[in-house]
Amino acid sequence: MSFSFLTIIYLIASVTFILGLKMLSNPASARKGNAIAATGMVLAIAATIFLYRDDEGKALGNYGWIFGGLLIGATIGTLAAKRVKMTAMPEMVSLFNGMGGACAALISIVEFNHLANKVHASKTISLQDIFPSSTAYGNWTGEMLIILAGLIIGAVSFAGSIIAWGKLNGKIHDLAFRGHHLFNFVLLLIIVVMAGWMIGVFENANSLVFYTIFFMSLLYGVFFVLPIGGADMPVVISLLNSFTGVAAACGGFLYNNKAMLTGGILVGAAGTLLTILMCRAMNRSLINVLIGSFGVSAEQAATKQEQGNYKEISLSDAAVVLSYANKVMIVPGYGLAVAQAQHACHELEKLLTARGVEVKYAIHPVAGRMPGHMNVLLAEADVDYELLLEMEQANEEFPHTDVVLVLGANDVVNPAAKSDTASPIYGMPILDVELARTCIVNKRSMKPGYAGIENELFFRPKTSMLFGDAKKVLQDLAAEIKNL
Ligand code: NDP
Repeated sequence: MSFSFLTIIYLIASVTFILGLKMLSNPASARKGNAIAATGMVLAIAATIFLYRDDEGKALGNYGWIFGGLLIGATIGTLAAKRVKMTAMPEMVSLFNGMGGACAALISIVEFNHLANKVHASKTISLQDIFPSSTAYGNWTGEMLIILAGLIIGAVSFAGSIIAWGKLNGKIHDLAFRGHHLFNFVLLLIIVVMAGWMIGVFENANSLVFYTIFFMSLLYGVFFVLPIGGADMPVVISLLNSFTGVAAACGGFLYNNKAMLTGGILVGAAGTLLTILMCRAMNRSLINVLIGSFGVSAEQAATKQEQGNYKEISLSDAAVVLSYANKVMIVPGYGLAVAQAQHACHELEKLLTARGVEVKYAIHPVAGRMPGHMNVLLAEADVDYELLLEMEQANEEFPHTDVVLVLGANDVVNPAAKSDTASPIYGMPILDVELARTCIVNKRSMKPGYAGIENELFFRPKTSMLFGDAKKVLQDLAAEIKNL
């Protein structure tokens, strides 16, 4: 009775995950979608704790450990999510993703030990006693395959995400050495050969090999992400996300837990699709991202020639230019998130609209530090979603735009991506802000953005620099416009 009830609850939870994911694709319904999927997850966890029965009809037990873990995890998670600054969100996402990978690897370790204990317990007990004899070998192969897949993918995802977290918060720098690809390839080859040996040889529960695979997978995760730098981090983060999903799905297989399986597959599939879309947005193939351009930005930035002079615009002049334009396009970037200037930006947009100016936002897919960063940021300030243009649409509209106001964006408007073959962002489609009549760029200094390279745009004749913190500048601009 309770088993079928549990299955129904898992089915309901799976439906909430799918519904939630669907609703996440639109900013207007995203919050609701998140809440629906979270409710499904709570339901699935509660049902597993209270309704699960093993083959002998025994309940889960270990309630002290379970509720202790839940309490500690939920407290840390809630506090971290409440306190995190919007700009540190990608780091937190990366860290949480790493925790998912670690969980999947731990599940594999626990399940391997169960299996190994059974194999080693007594010479008289063979796996025929564990699995139905006719399918013993097949079951061994299947179970070891899932255990090792969860272990390897989970460990790579955990170690890689921790490195990505360190890179995003600036604690870890790009590192590549001669023969790095070869080193990674050999590491992966050894892991695959050892795993193949364990899977292929019946009752081969060799702990030494198993833990060597685990540590080598961790090492692979570290060396896989360490060299990837510049503008390629979004793709790697999204790829690691999909790894965690697949690793969690392995756990679902091991425990025959449908909710875990569905959740894992959804994360894995969504992460894979996002990775493909990100690669397309950056005009790169995945292989090229992973082994193509390695942490080169610093040297390239250093060898870059002087670009010449840039011109500045005063606040009052910028206010006049914006107020008397017919059409203004705002290009938000990472700096807008740093300054927490989304509300001030929305205020300026409303002021200009009230004066009859048509205002829209041009959103680059990798602006900020996480996929959808700008959409989330602007949604927080209640900016009308209809005003947000995707890159292709925006690029079509720039030639008919009077003023582009770049707010804390840099790499995503850097023309070097189109012309400089030596640039680490070469090939990435950018927002063609130069096609507009005039371009005002707000940032605090002439410092480069994430990719560490200079931006020619700032030195071009149509561009004027408006220096200062984005929030202060936007507030001052609004005050100036009100006085016009
Ligand atoms: P960039 O990192 O290229 O540039 C941001 C600019 O904002 C800096 O040049 C900085 O200049 C300026 N800035 C910082 N603080 C402020 C402030 N308080 N007020 C005004 N300006 C400020 O950002 P983009 O959004 O253009 O590009 C994103 C980059 O991040 C891309 O290279 C992308 O590949 C990468 N990335 C993206 C991820 C994603 O998923 N979206 C994930 C990881 C990396 P200054 O210091 O002079 O003010």
